[in-house]
Amino acid sequence: MSDQPELLFIDGEWREANDGRRFEVEDPADGSVLARVADAGEVDAADALDAAVAAQAAWAATAPRERGEVLRAAYELIIERTDDFARTISLEMGKPLAEAAGEVAYGAEFFRWFAEEAVRIHGRFMSAPDGKSRLLTLKRPVGPCLFVTPWNFPLAMGSRKIGPALAAGCTVVVKPAEQTPLTMLKLADLLREVGVPAGVVNVVPTSDAATVVSALMGDDRLRKVSFTGSTEVGKILVRQSADHLQRVSMELGGNAPFVVFEDADVDAAVAGAMIAKMRNMGEACTAANRFLVHADVADAFATALAEKMGAMTVGRGQDDGTQVGPLIDSDAVESVSQLVTDAVHDGATVVTGGTAPGGPGHFYPPTVLTDVPAEAQINSVEVFGPVAPITTFTSEEDAVAAANATPYGLVAYAWTKDLARVMRLQESLQSGMIGINTGLVSNPAAPFGGVKESGFGREGGFEGIEEYLDTAYVALPAG
Ligand code: ADP
Repeated sequence: MSDQPELLFIDGEWREANDGRRFEVEDPADGSVLARVADAGEVDAADALDAAVAAQAAWAATAPRERGEVLRAAYELIIERTDDFARTISLEMGKPLAEAAGEVAYGAEFFRWFAEEAVRIHGRFMSAPDGKSRLLTLKRPVGPCLFVTPWNFPLAMGSRKIGPALAAGCTVVVKPAEQTPLTMLKLADLLREVGVPAGVVNVVPTSDAATVVSALMGDDRLRKVSFTGSTEVGKILVRQSADHLQRVSMELGGNAPFVVFEDADVDAAVAGAMIAKMRNMGEACTAANRFLVHADVADAFATALAEKMGAMTVGRGQDDGTQVGPLIDSDAVESVSQLVTDAVHDGATVVTGGTAPGGPGHFYPPTVLTDVPAEAQINSVEVFGPVAPITTFTSEEDAVAAANATPYGLVAYAWTKDLARVMRLQESLQSGMIGINTGLVSNPAAPFGGVKESGFGREGGFEGIEEYLDTAYVALPAG
């Protein structure tokens, strides 16, 4: 990929790693090497943080409108270059080009949304209850931030953090996933081009995330860490943040229940399931993980879903007609295969799919399982692949109990035409987001985030920028 930046981006410059090392980025469709990217180590991490710290005061002092306009320009240019970004995303991550273009539109939108939020940062002024003093609050940027992002949405998982941070006046160091650094490097180049000053955004791909991230978090000048990834790694980072009490936002794993009640529009629920399950090949923390379907409609739902999933075209993301690309790596295929084998062992029936084709590339077919016992492992872990396990229920109470029977709490989907039930569900489902009669909740204008072991903090919406702002309070005499 010759026109693609493959170096570290530090202080507005493209650099080799201090020790000259590079690591390989692979095409998940065939294992071929797409690029050899500079491999940051501790010294490079320190350089990146130095640059972010040096740029912090000047960036925080820019006019909000100026920051907003740079972000708006980033939005426009990403959209203009949709095809180029989509191709890079598709190549390094595997998803079909059409889905990659969807990610570009979604990812770019965070720059537009936060361009608009940059000029709406405000505090308050009020009289103390006893009338003797006045209270003034103002918002300040938290300071230099570290972003650790996953491979499943190489652009959007970064822009969702960079947009609000830059709008708030923070500088950032981004550590993209080792599987997919190319999209983030391309974004860094675009941000430079639209006028983001040197040092405000730095990108340090590395094959040794643990070392680079610990080095950065061991520095008390770093004031904030925002992470999207597994709950396991999230917990490590929360522990590490304790040494310097860095602020943290954690977008972690999910185990989304997709509940179809007996009064649901089954065709609409199947169409929603196709989105909630198959978007990104099921490699999304919001992916429907467990299908809980009322026994009265379970057969109709399973048959229609299996027909649609079984008809999908699996192939290279860049090929015409591909609807399902490869999974990210061989470990992913192995883990999905194992979950399916175990479920079948526990009594599940394979309605479609169920066997990895083998051969080059990390492919796994869309798979529907019925009669999955509630206690099967596939119902308790994040599948992160194109497998829909269906379990039945007979009462709303049981469905809600099953939906909540997980340490996770990111998103829950429910299908029903009963308004009173909707009102009950929005209070009883333990998750940060709830989709009612829809298979898609992500929206740049909405607060994305979880509860329980899915983490804390919100991205997008009016809430998103608050993650990057501290509140300062000034006490004033009444006069
Ligand atoms: P996944 O299993 O989906 O790859 P991870 O949580 O392992 O999710 O990875 C998400 C991000 O966290 C990636 O950028 C990865 O490099 C980074 N990462 C993985 N392990 C660590 C660690 N020990 N410390 C810091 N970052 C890590």
